[in-house]
Amino acid sequence: MSSNQPYSFFQSVEKSFDKAAKYTNWDLGILEQIKACNSVYQMRFPVKLDNGEIEVIEAYRVQHSQHKSPCKGGIRFSDEVNQDEVMALASLMTYKCAIVNVPFGGGKGGIKINPRKYSVYELEKITRRYTAELVKKNFIGPGIDVPAPDYGTGPREMAWIVDTYASLKPGEIDAAGCVTGKPITQGGVRGRTEATGLGVFFGIREVCNMPDVMQKLGLTIGIADKTVIVQGLGNVGYHSAKFFRESGAKIIALAEYEGAIFNADGLNEDEVFQHRKATGSILNFPGATNLAKNTDALELACDILIPAALENVINGENAPRVKAKIIGEAANGPCTPEADEIFTQNGILCVPDMYLNAGGVTVSYFEWLKNLSHVRYGRMEKRFTENLNTKILGQIEELSGKRVSDENREFIMHGPEEQDLVHSGLEETMISATREIMDIWNSNPEIPDMRTAAYVSAINKVATSYLELGIFP
Ligand code: GLU
Repeated sequence: MSSNQPYSFFQSVEKSFDKAAKYTNWDLGILEQIKACNSVYQMRFPVKLDNGEIEVIEAYRVQHSQHKSPCKGGIRFSDEVNQDEVMALASLMTYKCAIVNVPFGGGKGGIKINPRKYSVYELEKITRRYTAELVKKNFIGPGIDVPAPDYGTGPREMAWIVDTYASLKPGEIDAAGCVTGKPITQGGVRGRTEATGLGVFFGIREVCNMPDVMQKLGLTIGIADKTVIVQGLGNVGYHSAKFFRESGAKIIALAEYEGAIFNADGLNEDEVFQHRKATGSILNFPGATNLAKNTDALELACDILIPAALENVINGENAPRVKAKIIGEAANGPCTPEADEIFTQNGILCVPDMYLNAGGVTVSYFEWLKNLSHVRYGRMEKRFTENLNTKILGQIEELSGKRVSDENREFIMHGPEEQDLVHSGLEETMISATREIMDIWNSNPEIPDMRTAAYVSAINKVATSYLELGIFP
């Protein structure tokens, strides 16, 4: 619980849930069951460090809901990890999956370490031991609970997890589906790396294509020429910035741990990323102005603000100074319930995390399906589609006596690769979810904000699922 926060992260998720529950007709008992974390596993295990010392590591895995199996959610490595945080994040995963129609329950894991303080070998030992502890307690498996990357973890850690799991479960044919976000060579799917950032982009683009919403905010339709600020240049922030810039938006400020930079003419996220890699800091980027504090970037005037780092960065204290028209929550829980109230008063649209950053878990779902089907997307139909399209094109040219341009020819003939299918599945998912939430919001003018409408969508789906399972006879 941070000093300016009157309640914990999990309590703030409960608060948002309760706010939305008022707009549904479900029995209190069902609502209580949805809110509760079903299983919380706190563990301690020893690891021998490179210098010979033994350190006791604190770690967690929380399964928030089993209304669908398996449970799904990332594992974070951070000094800040604690039980309350993992419980909050696991709950958000349940709601997230429900909103985007991904058939999983919510889960989350965390290891309380700063990964920068450990060697690669130490990190590997910690990750493998954590996985072994999960196996012992039946807390991991393609049909039980499927971890993924989160803050501080990536494909490397996922490869260690799948290898440990497979070696402890010899002969399990679906072992690759025990974790997602794996390297391609270890059963990963093309398109997973950029998935969350791309999902953030698809979600905000859909909102920006809604004439009534844009009119209310005093903005023009579309992404082009919008000014964007991104906080966090990790995987999610980097890719969000990239897709906005490539669609004609201007990234006027970027913020990281050590500070923030501003350039009204626009920044290129990759150049800034390379600068940070070379100098160790985002600051002093050629042509940009340094901002005194990294949080200053959150308070600059812009069309779209994307907090893509950690929770609670916009709260009751700084929310009154936020000048963005749209906030796209790429991180999990970046704005507190107090901030939500202030945004509503100030006419700011906050596009909520548990749907906007669902691109990661959506593509994880595609990866899991690939692992269970043991075949790469596109393998069966790519060549067939190309042959068919070539034939159709030939017929069109023959019958019309005209030739299709080379550019169009290539586009029309192309059979889908794995990445094409993954991106299109993600685009469809984000567009449908945006429309479902907006329809709920439009159907009840009492609902104060988009987060509440998203929670209503999630509650209705999870409650229906529980009732259909017959858990409440
Ligand atoms: N850690 C990501 C999230 O918070 C991805 C989870 C997943 O792919 O299971 O949504």
